[in-house]
Amino acid sequence: MSPPLFDSHLHTPLCGHATGTPREYAQAALDAGLSGLCFTDHMPMPSWYDAPWRMRREQLAQYVDEVAAVQAEFAGRLEVRLGLEADFHPGTERFVENVLNAHDWDYVIGSVHYIGAWGFDNPEFVAEYDSRDLRGLYREYYLLVEGAAKSGLFDSIGHLDLPKKFGHLDPDGYAALHALDVVAESGLSLDFNTAGWRKPVAEAYPAPNLTRAAAERGIGFVLGSDAHRPREVGFRFTDAIKQIHDVGGRIVTYEGRGRHG
Ligand SMILES: [Zn+2]
Ligand SMILES: [Zn+2]
Repeated sequence: MSPPLFDSHLHTPLCGHATGTPREYAQAALDAGLSGLCFTDHMPMPSWYDAPWRMRREQLAQYVDEVAAVQAEFAGRLEVRLGLEADFHPGTERFVENVLNAHDWDYVIGSVHYIGAWGFDNPEFVAEYDSRDLRGLYREYYLLVEGAAKSGLFDSIGHLDLPKKFGHLDPDGYAALHALDVVAESGLSLDFNTAGWRKPVAEAYPAPNLTRAAAERGIGFVLGSDAHRPREVGFRFTDAIKQIHDVGGRIVTYEGRGRHG
């Protein structure tokens, strides 16, 4: 029998850039034949950081309540878990820790969306890539990923090779491998994020070679569609499972912080 399939990277309209109610995401998961899902909406951050793209701190309780309502409605049919996609941005760790301590999360993704003040995955600011040295950019990015892994705040690293989103591939790859060493030492998993297949790069995060390097280091993979609308739930999971199994990788899910199987 194949293991139960979960989609563990999903958003809700509370972040301001997703559509569909939480119950519609849950219904989509059922329709896709999944065993469960874990909501991981963009967590609140200090008000000066990326505010239009996430729920506000005072909306956190509403988020928890909405997920609990879906949990109750789908009980016995679909396992519904409560998580967050957190941001790693130096200087915000105490705020993040405070939010993470406010509720009992099943799973917390740690993502790097900013290099300094540049939101590098925002299509609005894609021109900035032209004025950057790609090697330096990836070095800086993966140092931040290492910081996220070492922070002790997160269960997994979100969309590992995200700067490739618009097609700016990593010219060398050493920094990525070093970051994977740190991820393995820190005992984190990787968000195997199928959204990359919907972006210009047309590749999941992580790329096949990094999937192999992660598997060789014993790092587990958590399947996630990064859905921002219900029809994206479970997006290309068959391809994801193949890419992971092709390199002997293992798929994990999280239930309660610190426990996974
Ligand atoms: Zn988002
Ligand atoms: Zn993200």
